[in-house]
Amino acid sequence: MHIKSKLPKSEITIFTVMSGLARKHNAINLGQGFPDFDCEERLRNLVAKYLNDEKNQYCPMPGLLDLRQSISDKIQLTCGQTVSPQDEICITAGATQALFTAITAFVHPGEEVIILEPAYDSYIPSIQIAGGIPRGYQMVYPDYAIDWNEIESMVNEKTRMIIINTPHNPTGTVLKKSDLEALENIVANRDIIVLSDEVYEHLIYDGATHQSVLRFPKLYQQSIAVFSFGKTFHSTGWKMGYAVGPKYLMDEFKNVHQWNVFCVNSFTQYALAEHLQTPTNYTSLPTFFEQKRDFLTDRLKDTPLVPKLSQGTFFQLFNYAALSDMDDATFAKYLTTEIGVAAIPLSPFYSKPPGDKVIRLCFAKKEATLAAAAERLAKLAK
Ligand code: PMP
Ligand code: GLN
Repeated sequence: MHIKSKLPKSEITIFTVMSGLARKHNAINLGQGFPDFDCEERLRNLVAKYLNDEKNQYCPMPGLLDLRQSISDKIQLTCGQTVSPQDEICITAGATQALFTAITAFVHPGEEVIILEPAYDSYIPSIQIAGGIPRGYQMVYPDYAIDWNEIESMVNEKTRMIIINTPHNPTGTVLKKSDLEALENIVANRDIIVLSDEVYEHLIYDGATHQSVLRFPKLYQQSIAVFSFGKTFHSTGWKMGYAVGPKYLMDEFKNVHQWNVFCVNSFTQYALAEHLQTPTNYTSLPTFFEQKRDFLTDRLKDTPLVPKLSQGTFFQLFNYAALSDMDDATFAKYLTTEIGVAAIPLSPFYSKPPGDKVIRLCFAKKEATLAAAAERLAKLAK
């Protein structure tokens, strides 16, 4: 039988490749983004409590109402906006499913989606499965600033969606209020949806404020924002997340969601609903991760790796141009196999890699792990 792939050019994700290589060579894994410490005991106990309390059957299609209420309360507290738990929130199997559902719900064959590269690697395949056409705008090292006039010049009658991501993986940059205002002006009076990937909303440093689309009432009317409990509560393996948007968009989102998963697992939703009611569980995150960022940066200051200070996410970029002419994929493999520290190259985040000598390291690790990795990286000649 002959089958025709919808993703004929798709390769195994760089995260799987580098984690596999790290395991094979016993390298310390600062590649794939996940914490090497467990989620909080309080949260684990809540999950166990609800698992053992007969909360094991289907929940409502958009998710447990108590969890949607807790999310709405959090949005009120962090963004000062009122979002309806009934109409404007849907619980998903992680942010990846939320992104996929939003893209497949709104993008029709032949329509264009503007993405900002380097871009998270699930966006392009999801667009292609929907029959859409990704149009990449290239952000440039080291500032990765966005020229919104150029974005506007990419817009045409086929443009259906613009995907943004703040704080940004892999660059660790964050969008400013003026960026969101510029975007709001571009999409105003056009049938363009903004898909805002905000999975690192609470991982933001140096006193900056996360500029969510939820803070901009006019922009929000054309937006779907996507979040992940994996990032917020150190539980990437649970694959729990949610999408937030105005009712008319979420009705269509849920129209696809119900035929995709219908609903996602029940007992963690009870636990998350309760855990969210204590705001310090997420408001403490910037300080927690900023210390890790600074610890890693300090430990690497005597190596030839030049940091680009992370403003958000749990990633930091390092420039290795002083050290090697290797391309980034080769250098990341060399670090993993020869130095014993796994890293992520940036080229897989681009349609046309610019050839920057930059790699990404994840600092969501115990200090002992970061210290051990720094000791190995100190072997890099100055
Ligand atoms: N978006 C970005 C920018 C990410 O870095 C990730 C990976 N953590 C996701 C989406 C996917 O999140 P999840 O694991 O909740 O599907
Ligand atoms: N988001 C994580 C990262 O950027 C990886 C997620 C995955 O492995 N699919 O490293």
